[in-house]
Amino acid sequence: MENKNKPSDLVIVYHRQPYEERMENGQLVYKEHASPNGIVPTLKSFFGSVERGAWVAWKQVEGKGREAEKFERVVRIQDSYGTYNVSRLPLTPQQVRSFYHVTSKEALWPILHSFPERYNYDAVDWPTFREVNRLFAEAAVAQAAPGAVIWIHDYNLWLTPHYVRKLRSDVKIAFFHHTPFPSSSIFSILPWRDEIMNSLLDCDLVGFHIPRYAAGFAAAARNLKGAKILEEAPAPSSMSHQGLALSQASSPVKLGYQGRVVHVDACPVGTNVPYIRELAARETTQAREMRIREELAGRRLIMSVGRADYTKGTRDMLLAYERLLERQPALVGQVQLLVTSVSAAAGMGVYRNVQREIEQISGRINGRYSTLAYRPLWLSTSAIPFEELIAYYRCADVCWITPLRDGLNLVAKEYVAARENTDGGNLGGALVLSEFTGAAVELDGAVLANPYSNFQMDAAIDRALAMPPQEQQERMASMQRSVERYDAAKWARHTLEKFNTL
Ligand code: UDP
Repeated sequence: MENKNKPSDLVIVYHRQPYEERMENGQLVYKEHASPNGIVPTLKSFFGSVERGAWVAWKQVEGKGREAEKFERVVRIQDSYGTYNVSRLPLTPQQVRSFYHVTSKEALWPILHSFPERYNYDAVDWPTFREVNRLFAEAAVAQAAPGAVIWIHDYNLWLTPHYVRKLRSDVKIAFFHHTPFPSSSIFSILPWRDEIMNSLLDCDLVGFHIPRYAAGFAAAARNLKGAKILEEAPAPSSMSHQGLALSQASSPVKLGYQGRVVHVDACPVGTNVPYIRELAARETTQAREMRIREELAGRRLIMSVGRADYTKGTRDMLLAYERLLERQPALVGQVQLLVTSVSAAAGMGVYRNVQREIEQISGRINGRYSTLAYRPLWLSTSAIPFEELIAYYRCADVCWITPLRDGLNLVAKEYVAARENTDGGNLGGALVLSEFTGAAVELDGAVLANPYSNFQMDAAIDRALAMPPQEQQERMASMQRSVERYDAAKWARHTLEKFNTL
């Protein structure tokens, strides 16, 4: 195998490792994820476009004992995406807890999602956050060839660009936000706003899913730091429909700050449409579909898929389902709701309470409406494997995705992609989608809902359940065109083009 000491042209810095670690015959092995779905495979696909690539992630290593001593920092991985280095930053459990579970999830996450009332400042240990971000920067520059692109992901690494810039002036620094970016007044709640903005303005490229978030960042950069908007472009017509909560007429393209140009970009991450199509066509999926339909016994399936997070609005969706069964007694026994609310890692108290409430409401609904032969709600708190999810998507008459705030929401796009038929037509079905998801400005054809309004939530689910087949087909066809237009491959092409202009 090639030398792992050679530097790379592209260094991806993402908190998760790009493989699954497993013990086989007493040996630790690095297994490629079984499913090429999700952000990690999308990011790894970039290694196909560069001569040498590297990935930087953290790995929890216990204290200073033997485990820490024999820890191998850089491993060379060979998988279907090529051969690349993975540099693992050893962090202690205390560092992980402080930097990730507390500062990132309890202070930064609520602000990014415009939930200031959830913001918890008291528990934050900012020096640890800074230190971990600095360590990431050191690990990244150690992998980077002269002039390389170092591509950093997400808010838990907000300070890394600053440390990279201090260490290396030759590299290009790109940053992608997988979350929303709030208004500058909400962002200003963060007492570290100046330090964060300085770091983001050290980048050559700052990327977002949609123009609204790019505009939020540019406004904060201008209001807080005096950055100038040097260039703006009209947002793509599909993302600038007037009257939507997250539509935006124009998007910033270049900012000027202290004599440097910071490129700003908005392009939504996509799903792997060919893979979803391939899964949908598999015999195993079809067999699964048959089993699900047998279990449904003619009932209509509504599904809602997400993590146990207050931003996902699962509580409000469940309350709307309860109102639906109250309002339309004829539906009792005729509809079935499948909810996945995947539990967060242990140790995050805020998510534990969210999960508890979801379980309570679900229990109440089942208690009120179940009979021996019918249970109106299936709740899964563990993740359904992606291959299985595709079979459920294909059986679901309605996909109900109503987060209070969500950077994008891939589930909505996956549902649409999975509804394609092998003959080129589609299975119909209705997508009820919150206006406060990034995907809402892309998916023209969804039944949009404002999850802050009971009236609108009720109207949206009624509308979806009553939608005539012809209208379902037309709306689904329109959404399929946009899911194809912004698929994972398009995002990769677009991003590589951007790197080339830096
Ligand atoms: N997912 C899954 N099984 C589940 C729930 C979710 O495989 O039971 C996957 C889903 O298919 C999607 C991802 O997890 O690809 C969730 O991405 P999304 O953008 O919707 O939400 P996020 O969790 O990133 O906020």
